[in-house]
Amino acid sequence: MPLKPFAVLCALLSSVLFAAEPSVQWYKGNLHTHTLWSDGDDFPDSVVRWYKTNGYHFLALSDHNVMQRGEKWFAPAKRKGGPEIADKYLASFPADRVKVRGEGAAREIRLKTFDELQSEFGEAGRFLMLTSIESTDSRVHVNVTNLRDPILPDKAIDTSTSSGIVAAMRHAFAAVKAQRAATGQPMFAHLNHPNFKWAVTAEEILQVEQQRFFEVYNGHPTVYNEGDAVHASTERIWDIVLAERLGRLGQPPLYGLATDDSHNYHIAPDRVTMRSSITGRGWIMVKAAELTPEALIASIEKGDFYCSTGVTLKEIVRTSDSLTVEVQPEEGVEYRIEFIGSHKGYSHKSEPVRDANGEVLRVTRRYSDHVGRLLQATKSVRATYKFKGDELYVRARVTAYRPKSPIVVPGELERAWTQP
Ligand SMILES: [Zn+2]
Ligand SMILES: [Zn+2]
Repeated sequence: MPLKPFAVLCALLSSVLFAAEPSVQWYKGNLHTHTLWSDGDDFPDSVVRWYKTNGYHFLALSDHNVMQRGEKWFAPAKRKGGPEIADKYLASFPADRVKVRGEGAAREIRLKTFDELQSEFGEAGRFLMLTSIESTDSRVHVNVTNLRDPILPDKAIDTSTSSGIVAAMRHAFAAVKAQRAATGQPMFAHLNHPNFKWAVTAEEILQVEQQRFFEVYNGHPTVYNEGDAVHASTERIWDIVLAERLGRLGQPPLYGLATDDSHNYHIAPDRVTMRSSITGRGWIMVKAAELTPEALIASIEKGDFYCSTGVTLKEIVRTSDSLTVEVQPEEGVEYRIEFIGSHKGYSHKSEPVRDANGEVLRVTRRYSDHVGRLLQATKSVRATYKFKGDELYVRARVTAYRPKSPIVVPGELERAWTQP
């Protein structure tokens, strides 16, 4: 029997009114962490538990050149401090979920796999594990998030030269593209710590168009986010790449991430030093409809996220004529909101950096001050920048006037960065 128009209307209305509307919210996550599967100094389940109990919604364990699959046993006696790490672990988890074999110096403990970790700690809408790997050669490190199978560096590429650096990045990004096409699984790669060993310059990133993400902040103490007298900071690299891509090359923007790159899990807060690679230093906040790999990656690829080292944003509003940022303020802390960008028609000229003998150094070149200009700054918790129409891009940076705690890099303040 055909439905009467009124019944059809009622059915339509109720499906609109009562359909489970996914609610868009901010999810906090870290996409760069190490465990005993590679050179981190704790068991993967201890690491996952730290993130879950410290307010994170998603986590990727990005061990060097390995995914957490198959059998791997940790032999405490073979590692300095190993017996203490093992005893602490055994004391903090119920004995019936831990597999131990052998005794004395031959004692070994099995590491939990990704599947075991996701089934134990994963919780719909609350906590999600993402597969990951840090595809690592001596200088170029690329994280791949939500991949199906390991993506490893091409050992035939010599990354001691600039062309080798570019080739290594192209290899990683092409492998991700191919695996994504073959599996249909959303996944993405991001360049890690470009200033680690001063490995990657802005000009080299500009030769790899597929590269859409990089770490503007990495919490490891020896990655030189801030650059030095000769080397550009990661933020300067970001502005150069953005200006050149959008203003000259007609390529898509580069988005920035903040990550921990944590390795050390046994340092008491009052014992942290400038060599400590600890948790809780850098993360991303992703605005997504639900906590699934698909929804998170879709938002990340749209630039619907920001990075933070301590500042929480209440709101980011991007319209066709303005960008508004509002901080979730903390009692007694002063904030400064800066809008940074480059304009159409900026000078593309750049100069090489030379050493005392006039030799050209293999570092990011020097560009005009019109690249990455400070457009507006406000000491306030909310600010709007109205576009003039001649900007190539505008991004916001928020600084909280309190030292980042605990101190790993002297003088570091807590920050947040929105995407361009
Ligand atoms: Zn690395
Ligand atoms: Zn790492």
